[in-house]
Order: sequence, then structure tokens, then C-alpha cells
Amino acid sequence: MLDHLTYTAPEPKVIAGAKGDWELVIGLEVHAQVASNAKLFSGASTTFGAEPNSNVSFVDAAMPGMLPVINEYCVAQAVRTGLGLKAAINLTSAFDRKNYFYPDLPQGYQISQLYHPIVGEGEIIVDMGPGVARRVRIERIHLEQDAGKSIHDMDPALSFVDLNRTGVALMEIVSRPDIRSPEEAAAYVAKLRQIMRYLGTCDGNMQNGNLRADVNVSVCRPGDYERYQETQDFSHLGTRCEIKNMNSLRFIQAAIDYEARRQIAILEDGGQIVQETRLYDPDRGETRSMRSKEEAHDYRYFPDPDLLPLEIEQGWVDDIAASMPELPDEKKARFVQVLGLSEYDAGVLTAEVESADFFEAVANGREGKQAANWVINELFGRLNKQGLSIADSPVSAAQLGGVLDLIGSGEISGKMAKDLFEIVWTEGGDPAEIAAARGMKQVTDTGAIEAAVDEIIAANPAQVEKARANPKLAGWFTGQVLKATGGKANPATVNELVAKKLGH
Ligand code: ADP
Ligand code: MG
Repeated sequence: MLDHLTYTAPEPKVIAGAKGDWELVIGLEVHAQVASNAKLFSGASTTFGAEPNSNVSFVDAAMPGMLPVINEYCVAQAVRTGLGLKAAINLTSAFDRKNYFYPDLPQGYQISQLYHPIVGEGEIIVDMGPGVARRVRIERIHLEQDAGKSIHDMDPALSFVDLNRTGVALMEIVSRPDIRSPEEAAAYVAKLRQIMRYLGTCDGNMQNGNLRADVNVSVCRPGDYERYQETQDFSHLGTRCEIKNMNSLRFIQAAIDYEARRQIAILEDGGQIVQETRLYDPDRGETRSMRSKEEAHDYRYFPDPDLLPLEIEQGWVDDIAASMPELPDEKKARFVQVLGLSEYDAGVLTAEVESADFFEAVANGREGKQAANWVINELFGRLNKQGLSIADSPVSAAQLGGVLDLIGSGEISGKMAKDLFEIVWTEGGDPAEIAAARGMKQVTDTGAIEAAVDEIIAANPAQVEKARANPKLAGWFTGQVLKATGGKANPATVNELVAKKLGH
């Protein structure tokens, strides 16, 4: 089923500098909010947009004597995500304290997993067009707490803090530096988001900060990356800078491009890249230094004494594995191999699990290619135009299937089907009943069509003479017959009869 995984790797992006070519190397740390109603170590709600500081338990506010209690559901979500990325699940993991001072962090430390993450190595196949894909290795996924939010723009003199997000569970998904262009970085985040949405482990709402990426960028000379790959020795790569907290695919690409060119300019000038954390300013389209890079020892990491090591059982992992849905790569491969769709169409239909489900309901018992055309061209076209999502589609899968059945049985023509779709879209109703009530029935009875053809031919002798000399003019007769029959004659039959009568 996974034959589509035979692909060629895309070329890395090359930037021509004044002193030769440069290539990009990119690694991402994605923070994905775990889809869970309660926080990682407390029972407080995670509802987005709640009144500030209303989703805060004593644990989240770090009241003295409060103890964290692990939320089993969040752990299961991390395991599920790991399995979705074909990753190793660590039956023993542990939580560490990452100490730093910030007003939106009442504990004075973040609980994270530095030394023993719950998920180990995995991979993501990043599609870059039919037959072209990049395999990006996942280094690890660890569970950690989110921080609160400081608000500086509500008052000229005061800052405010909202602790609703404090303690919400995050999965930090760390890639190897296998991404080679801004487009791949965006496609990687999109694919990760797609997989997690299929799994139901992260909503992936980037605007709400549900999915954010720290983007690491370095540049090297052609050939250096291959040497890194052979040896896994990072010294073949350039020094990286990390651009923090990106939550837009467009900005991720712009920031990488800017950052790579900034580094190239420094290097070509004889300078050195200082490893640091930078921020992207979308208004100016540039990255700015935020702080020098911290090392693990700056955070005084140590095992959290309030939490025992996390032990999970293989049987529990197996149960989660058994409940996994079909993932995008497998679904896409099935649509191509079993239903005969093009890779492009299969990609469009599997982009969101809701679209794939809708399509499958339409295609069930019908011709796959035709169902795909209707879903993509008519339905998606119309939904996009009106800014609607598939969940809000006025035409259900059953209704669209009904339209296709009428085409399949020859009762209506393709043109009539489009009119019928339009009626179902605006007025609703059962397609077969609407077609019957409005007399939408194509005439396939050759006798009736023949009579109409004869009539038009008899009434237009001059036109007949011209068409006999020039077969291209036969189309005029077909048009006249279709008009005379109110668009109900089957165009193919009309064409055939016209040609015969004109002696072509
Ligand atoms: P740290 O914990 O100090 O941030 P990590 O080893 O966790 O360092 O790496 C962070 C991210 O940086 C990973 O996604 C990794 O792939 C990426 N990365 C490491 N080296 C480079 C490099 N030379 N260029 C680009 N990205 C890199
Ligand atoms: Mg890191």
C-alpha cells in the first residue's frame, strides 16, 4: 500500500552569494498543544478564549504545597502522536525542571523532559509534489508545560499576566536538521499538523497559538550536508540561529529566507555566525537578535522531585496502536492504488480528514474518478468561493451521490447534473425527486432525436450545403437540436445523428 513512498528527494535550495553557492540547513522544534480538556498536571480547563485567569488551579498558580498529578490522557496523546510518526515509544520517561524566571511562570520552572523523553526517533514524509518528497527524521517528542501570557499593550504603565495557558500540555516535536528549503519547512509543519489532526492529538490552530515552531537555520557550502549525513558529525554544518515562536507558514518561509541571506552576508564578509535566539518581525520582514543561546546548564535542569519517573506498559501502547486511524500517507496511497485517482487528486482529498471522509461517502459504490472530479471541482470549488468548510457544506455526501447516480444511469446529462447540483446547493432536497419534478430527463430515445435532427436539416438547406462541404460546421446543427429539445437530448447521440444525416 505504501508504494507511493518511492519518490525522489527535492533539490536543496541554493543561494548564490558573491563568493560562491550556499545551501540551507533547517531543523524545527514544533510546540503542539495536546488536544485535552484538562492541563498536564492539573484538572483546570484548557478552553481557548476564556476570561483571563479563570482556567487556573492552585497547581497552575504554584501555590505553596501544591503537587502536580500527571494527566493520563495527555500521555496517551503523546504516545499516539509518536506512533503516528512511526517513532519509538519509551516505556520509561522522566520529568525535569527547567528553571528560569519570568512573570508568566509562577512556579519559577517549567516541567519538561530533557533527558528521558516519552517518544524517541521517528520520521515524516514531506510531500513536495507528485513523486517528490523528503524524509525528515524526528529526533524526539517530549511532554512539557506551556507558560502563561504577559500582556504589555493594555496599559501604558502596567503589564498584566494571564495564567490560563499556564500548565497546558505541549508536545515538543524536534526534527533532525533534514529540511533544505523554506518551502520544505512549511510543508513539514503542514504535514505534521495534518497527521496530528487525523490522530486528534492537536487541533493545529496556528492562529490560536496551538501549533508554533522554533526554526533553526544555518548555511553551508555544497557537499557539506552530504558529509554531515555520512558521518552525523555536526561540525560539517554551519552555526545555526534559532527563530522563536513562529505561528504562520508564510512567515516561517520569509524568516528562513531572510535569515539565510543575513548569515551568508556575514560569512562572505569574513565574519562568524554567533549562535543565538532571534525573533522575526513580520512588519519589517527581518529577524532580530533576542538573546544569546542558552545551554542546558543555564536552566539548572534537574529531575522534578515531585514526580516519579513515568512508567507505561507495552500493552497500553499496543491498545493505543490498535485504535489508530488510517493516516494521510496510507489513505492517499489507497485512493491512488484502489480507487484509481491521480496522486494530485488524492492529495487534495486527503488534506483534511473531513474531506477524505466526505469523498469516501460519495465514492462508495460509485466510480472513484468521477466522484473525485465532482467533489474537487464542483463541491470544493463552490465551498472555497463562499469561504465554507466541508462541515458546513449545504450539499451532503448522500445528495451529491444522488446526482452522480442520475448521471450514471443516463437519466440526466452532465450539463443537467450541474444545474441539479446548483438547485440542491441553494434549495436542498432529494436530487432524484427534484429531477423528476422539474422534468430534468435527457432524451436518449433516438427516434425522438432523429425527428428533431430531420426537422432542423429540412428547415436550413443553405446551412446543410455549407456543412456538407465543411464538416466543422456540423456543430451548428447539434446546437440547434439541443436548443429545440430544451437541452434534454443526449449530446453524443445528437452529434452522431447529425454526422450521419450530413453524410460525414
Ligand atoms: P538545543 O536543545 O540546544 O536547542 P538541539 O540539539 O535540541 O539543540 O537542536 C535544536 C534544533 O536545531 C533541532 O531541530 C536540530 O535539528 C536543529 N539543528 C541542529 N543543528 C543545526 C544546524 N547546524 N542547522 C540547522 N538546524 C540545526
Ligand atoms: Mg531544543
